[in-house]
Amino acid sequence: MHTILLVEDSNSIYTFLAKRIDERCNIIVDLAHSFEEAKALVAKNPKYTLALLDVHLPDTSDTTMVDFMSDQDIPSIVMTSDFNVDVYEKFRKRNLIDFVLKESPESLTYIIALIERVLENTKTKVLVVDDSITMRSQIKYYLQSQLYQVFSASDPVEGLQILEKHPEIKIITTDYNMPNLNGIEFLKIIRRNYDKNRMAVVGISSDEKSSIAFLKHGANDFITKPFIKEGFVCRINNTAEALHNVKKLEEVANKDFLTKVANRKYFFEEAEVNFAKAKAKKRPYAIAMIDIDNFKKINDTYGHTVGDRVIKKLADLLRENSKGHDIVARYGGEEFILYLKDISPSSAVRILQNICQKIADYKMLISEKETLQFTVSIGVCTSRHSTLSAAIEQADESLYVAKQSGKNRVVDDLIIA
Ligand code: GH3
Ligand code: MG
Ligand code: MG
Repeated sequence: MHTILLVEDSNSIYTFLAKRIDERCNIIVDLAHSFEEAKALVAKNPKYTLALLDVHLPDTSDTTMVDFMSDQDIPSIVMTSDFNVDVYEKFRKRNLIDFVLKESPESLTYIIALIERVLENTKTKVLVVDDSITMRSQIKYYLQSQLYQVFSASDPVEGLQILEKHPEIKIITTDYNMPNLNGIEFLKIIRRNYDKNRMAVVGISSDEKSSIAFLKHGANDFITKPFIKEGFVCRINNTAEALHNVKKLEEVANKDFLTKVANRKYFFEEAEVNFAKAKAKKRPYAIAMIDIDNFKKINDTYGHTVGDRVIKKLADLLRENSKGHDIVARYGGEEFILYLKDISPSSAVRILQNICQKIADYKMLISEKETLQFTVSIGVCTSRHSTLSAAIEQADESLYVAKQSGKNRVVDDLIIA
């Protein structure tokens, strides 16, 4: 959990900021009204993720407080109500996260968005590839001011080695002219394995021609040398935000809103790919249809909200009891589908029986004294079929048999056969 320090003597501004930060960012905010109070808080908690600093306080109005935070390794956002070039120049020399105005509600909204951005950056890994040590350290310094986790490499070959070790890297900045491979050749290799929405590449070069070449070969953006910190940071943050938004959109498109497991559309996209692979390589698989028993009665007795909680709990239990590479999806109202990869029929049935038992044993607390238990019926297909839909149909038939023969059980097609 991040904690941030807000130093502000105006009650109205700090109430506004603290409330909005609390609503949006899920972090702890410590408040100080003066530099003295801020120092006391830092002495107690030297691990602040960042500090949000008013420059005009009763006990300081120059750069002393900013320098103090910098000495303590606390990254800072400086707020001022009167922007002038002299003040700006004074603070520009410090490696701040940003220097912002707080003259209107819009600028306070900008500050909140900025905090959200840099907190997200703490989870974002960036790789800097440049043969110039000066350039490399400067870019690294700028990126660290925005709280990114930074790796650096002196040429593309080293860059690829780092990528292999850290495939979770989200953004790469690359120079154009480098020994062995140039930036475009490096970019081409990256694009063979990672698309634009998964790994962003920002090309850095001193001429327009190579900047355009970067874009034509699939770079997300380019930055022209020489650049100033504000411009550089702004473009990298925009790139990070674009990646983040794509990820969020994908989640909305692929996940079921209530349970957060995959939706039916995503299930078919993923399962078709896996089914084709399993068929080509003659690898075993299992498909299970899971339907809550007597769910109408649960809704009728306890209401729809409790019904929804039961559906959510079932999704959690299925997710917790399957492997990361398996696919759990909500197929319909209270019906789920599970695609188990590379698994023998006997292991699949054993795992599903275990899941069925865990569900039956689970007690959901619905009031101080009352608990609710529910069961599911599971129909499995482990036999080979020529199409995914034929396999699903087979699992559905097994589910029908499970319901007919008393519910709360697993029926697999090999047993029926
Ligand atoms: P069976 O044991 O044969 O499966 O009986 P059942 O009562 O579970 O019957 P059925 O599968 O036909 O009932 C599904 C019910 O689930 C009907 C519908 O009102 C309810 N339902 C569907 N989607 C939702 C949902 O998102 N939330 C809630 N609370 N109920 C839902
Ligand atoms: Mg049902
Ligand atoms: Mg049903």
